[in-house]
Amino acid sequence: MQYTEIMVRYGELSTKGKNRRSFIDRLGTNVRHTLHDFKKLDIKANRDRMHIQLNGEDSDKVISRLRDVFGIQNFSPSIKVERELDKVQATAVALIKEMFHPGMTFKVNTRRSDHDFKYDTNELNDLIGSYVLENIPGIKVKMKDPDVTLRVEVRTNGIFLSHEKIKGAGGMPVGTAGKGMMMLSGGIDSPVASYLALKRGVDIEMVHFFSPPYTSEQALNKAKELTARLAKYSGRIKFIQVPFTEIQETVKHDVPSGYLMTVQRRFMLRLTAALAQKRDGLAIFNGEALGQVASQTMESMAAINEVTTMPVIRPVVSMDKTEIIDIAQKIDTFDLSIMPFEDCCTIFAPPSPKTKPRIDKAKEYEERLDVDGLMERALAGIKITEIKVGDEFLNQNEQAFAELL
Ligand code: ATP
Ligand code: MG
Repeated sequence: MQYTEIMVRYGELSTKGKNRRSFIDRLGTNVRHTLHDFKKLDIKANRDRMHIQLNGEDSDKVISRLRDVFGIQNFSPSIKVERELDKVQATAVALIKEMFHPGMTFKVNTRRSDHDFKYDTNELNDLIGSYVLENIPGIKVKMKDPDVTLRVEVRTNGIFLSHEKIKGAGGMPVGTAGKGMMMLSGGIDSPVASYLALKRGVDIEMVHFFSPPYTSEQALNKAKELTARLAKYSGRIKFIQVPFTEIQETVKHDVPSGYLMTVQRRFMLRLTAALAQKRDGLAIFNGEALGQVASQTMESMAAINEVTTMPVIRPVVSMDKTEIIDIAQKIDTFDLSIMPFEDCCTIFAPPSPKTKPRIDKAKEYEERLDVDGLMERALAGIKITEIKVGDEFLNQNEQAFAELL
């Protein structure tokens, strides 16, 4: 059946007034971004529903994109019919016939937003239901849990028929919670943390530290490719790469090995906070989970966190690794994350980092370094790319990474 329209029901719209308006406007913008290459669509975001008129565009393709947009509770592809009973009846039969199987049960559920229409909802339920019974032998009416619920909506501009409610991604439209900086490595956890931040409406910008020549071009491309996978939830994501070589070499040279990791992490966080300040970010997000590794004890988090007063939000903090992996598989980042490209932390990891570092010690060791100069040079070397759904960064060297696997 060629659908004419998709009716979208909003997610958690508990907020009212100005917030409600901004939720709806933002969702409208995000849906337009996600569907940008379907030129014939006409998208209207009203107070209660969003209506996407297909004007001949392929409904299956539009539906598969819509499934990933945050802020949508569910949606129904529907067919618009003229406001005449016989047309509605004929379309109802055609629609149900397409999925008919012997013994199938159904009911008709009518709503009217136009109360001047000549039949009321009960009459319409009867008139359409009995016509379906007469014309599809073997079908039965069932009020509770039927196989098919045919929804009929009478509006002033036409009558809309639909039979399925497709579950949306839930969450909040990306952007409604403001902007945050996401510390993205190439690992499993930070892409999952990114997904969870996006789900609650955070417009994230990725911050990725890389250390050439110790880390390869492929490690950088992997982080970009992960960003492209996550961009399907918001349309596009900014990717900020920060050169980290000088800092890592200096820290390795001047700081005792037990504090290498703590001091490096303090630099990462300082740099991310500086970027947030410059770019109007309200918070920092990362993929830390309690107790996974030495840098993720509470003592360690406290020692690292001490460099900034900006909120550091850790969406996966209390998840087990298996729970994180389940999400990574669901959002299709897992296979990429486990590709074996060394990142800057693995290469400069000390043999036995302190699991309970002390803040005073970390500060004492940092006094030996030119912290401001190192920060300034790293920030001067950043590069920003805008990454869209469908962008590819790893394919050109398929052979090279096939060999690595
Ligand atoms: P992940 O799976 O996200 O790499 P992890 O369990 O391996 O996490 P770490 O490598 O210790 O843990 O990193 C903890 C967090 O620090 C990461 O989740 C990420 O937010 C941040 N981080 C680590 N390395 C980088 C990097 N190269 N660039 C940006 N952020 C990083
Ligand atoms: Mg890691």
